[in-house]
Amino acid sequence: MFLEDVLTKYEKFTEEINREHYLIGAGLKDTPEYHKIYERYFELFSLDTVSKVIKEKSNLHEDAPYEEYESYDRVIFTLLGLYLERRIIKEYEELQRREISSTVEYKGRVIPFRMIRSILSKEHSRENRRELYEKTIPIVEDLTEHKINLAQRMLNIIRKEFGYPNFVSYDGARMRVDIGKCAKNLEKFLKDTEEEYRELADYVFDRFLNLGWGEVQSYDIAYLMSGIVFKDFRVDDPIKVLRQTLNMMNLDLDKMKNLAIDDEIRPNKSPRAFCVPIRIPDEVVVVVKPSGYFDDISTLFHEMGHALHFAHTSKDLPLVYKLMGRVGTSEIFAFNFQYISDSVGWLSKFFNVSDDFIKYRKFVYLYLRRRYAAKVIYEYELLSKDNWESRGPELYHRILTEATGVVHPPHNYFWDLDFGFYSVEYSQAWEVEEVLRERLTSEFGEDWYFNKDSGEYLKTLWSLGMRYDPQKLAAKL
Ligand SMILES: [Zn+2]
Repeated sequence: MFLEDVLTKYEKFTEEINREHYLIGAGLKDTPEYHKIYERYFELFSLDTVSKVIKEKSNLHEDAPYEEYESYDRVIFTLLGLYLERRIIKEYEELQRREISSTVEYKGRVIPFRMIRSILSKEHSRENRRELYEKTIPIVEDLTEHKINLAQRMLNIIRKEFGYPNFVSYDGARMRVDIGKCAKNLEKFLKDTEEEYRELADYVFDRFLNLGWGEVQSYDIAYLMSGIVFKDFRVDDPIKVLRQTLNMMNLDLDKMKNLAIDDEIRPNKSPRAFCVPIRIPDEVVVVVKPSGYFDDISTLFHEMGHALHFAHTSKDLPLVYKLMGRVGTSEIFAFNFQYISDSVGWLSKFFNVSDDFIKYRKFVYLYLRRRYAAKVIYEYELLSKDNWESRGPELYHRILTEATGVVHPPHNYFWDLDFGFYSVEYSQAWEVEEVLRERLTSEFGEDWYFNKDSGEYLKTLWSLGMRYDPQKLAAKL
């Protein structure tokens, strides 16, 4: 069957891409060469290959189960996505190069643009934060111009070659999601959580920044989110805490030979933790660069959620379910594990935490959920029509600022946007994670993460790989 052939080739391709991704992110290689890998697999992502898969799909027996049709769609959209990426890969790498080589001069020092966020997050003086942040505005404006050109090129391909009028319809079809409906639901979510969030935000803004609703700027939020405001809260060995937690769930990290944590210190390592499933389930890596603050735990647990999911994916699963699912499905397990470190029972066992800290973590959780909900609404509004440059700045500023109480500056309207509606993946994953957590709580108690049987339950869910879309998985819980 042609489809099987495509999947086998695709498996090799993703392994090479993921390995490159690991080497670059871990600081083991300097110059990315993704385009070389794409060139080698040129044929796999040709429109000719896509047509052959479409033809094979049309030959399916009319009584074939829905899953079989859906498998074909997963392959078709994956190939279209890669065809699109290959067409713009040079411009994309150019944008990355520009971003990496951009610098600002600040107090006699030359600072790489990519380092700014991490410096802002540790800078106690608001005046210094503001001064440094303002220097990045021209860089963001320049990068935005390039990013818009890139998006415009993608849109042309989507329109002329794929036949979709805009990103909303293309990404919606690809994800099997009605993005407009999703945006509507999230408007309701914002209303429902408004009061609770407002109370938490007012408290946290005032307590840690001495600012009110609508006064907090993006350079303040980087600082607030890092957890540095809890000056005495140091985490010296996050991996030890992780290991102990896993043990209580009867999960033994040392026995998972297919899951490695790379915590070596290298100068060019990405400051953000990430998980790369190089080969599912045989080779999964989590890369971390601990900074010593609580955020280390939160991100380590998030990435470990991904890693455990990929490393426990059943070997017997058809390739399409191992390799071509919704990212949102994996995000469910990432958020689920991350949430352990926000649970009062867990926090009290490992740390001497104050009520302030618990309130603060509740704020962080809800801030992120509301920010991403607002992003879905904004991205839907923006990308379902044209004229991004004239409509984007005001729309972005208004929708995101209203939802969070943090000023989202107009100039950031396109830089703060991930292609492919990642915001939808996140938002749906958060929703389903709530359902999963309720299930875990009713089965294993409020402190389910201390229950030896909870690990076994999660293992059966992880073994399903990416077979089910987030909403479908919710129905199975
Ligand atoms: Zn994630």
